[in-house]
Amino acid sequence: MVKRFDGREYNELRKINIKLNVVDNAKGSAIFSFGDTVALAAVYGPKPSKMSLDYDKAFLRVRYNMLTFSTPERKKPTPGRREIELSEVIKRALEPALLLEEIPGSIVDIYIEILNADAGTRTASINAASLALSLAGIPMKDLVVGLAVGKIGEKIVVDLNKEEEDYDSEKLKKDPEKSKYIEYYGEGRATDIPVAIIPSEKKFTLIQLDGEISNKELNDALNLALEKSLEIKNLMKSNILKHLSSSGNFIY
Ligand code: ADP
Repeated sequence: MVKRFDGREYNELRKINIKLNVVDNAKGSAIFSFGDTVALAAVYGPKPSKMSLDYDKAFLRVRYNMLTFSTPERKKPTPGRREIELSEVIKRALEPALLLEEIPGSIVDIYIEILNADAGTRTASINAASLALSLAGIPMKDLVVGLAVGKIGEKIVVDLNKEEEDYDSEKLKKDPEKSKYIEYYGEGRATDIPVAIIPSEKKFTLIQLDGEISNKELNDALNLALEKSLEIKNLMKSNILKHLSSSGNFIY
């Protein structure tokens, strides 16, 4: 039976890998990967800031960067428009879960580096940042979970890889090795929907949509995202608990 390009079921995430506190000098840091997409986040702060003295809450700064070797073709080192926009998108996805009013007059910096990219870098970044923020002790009401859902051809799936994001049944028809996948996905192209969720509140803090989808399909895709966000959150949480107990910082 034909399945997804990489053999997954429609509701199956890529393999998740989590490594915690990997940057010595950061207050908290984490690597989060969805398959071949690998994001590193490092949190510095809260530090006192003149910039935010006028504010009644801390100031959050996010910088998302793709490393030159993260893509098959060397990426230019200078931050492009996409990176500037994604920094803002990630900041807005995280902020609703942070209790920044509890640390007024300070600044929190999050540096995100994409070590390898195979689609879903913004969602892997949100998870890495969320883990790093919690290790840094930044007050938050829950972990924010990022993941992508989407429609490929006519099929709703979770956690698209790059080959799926680039899906086009017309192109596949000309490829004798890959045309069998049309049987699984159906006709059409891909619609990618990266989302971020505060699982305890079932609240979306990010929904982006690139492509076309009906209301019913969007509803199905978002419900699939809600369901899978719990699986990711549980994995993130168990990794934090394991890390804190093994580093002697936590008595369970
Ligand atoms: P996301 O990584 O969040 O899915 P995009 O939809 O913008 O964001 O990008 C999809 C994928 O396209 C990336 O994960 C990466 O694999 C690839 N990509 C994005 N920008 C570049 C680039 N400048 N050079 C090469 N590949 C890129």
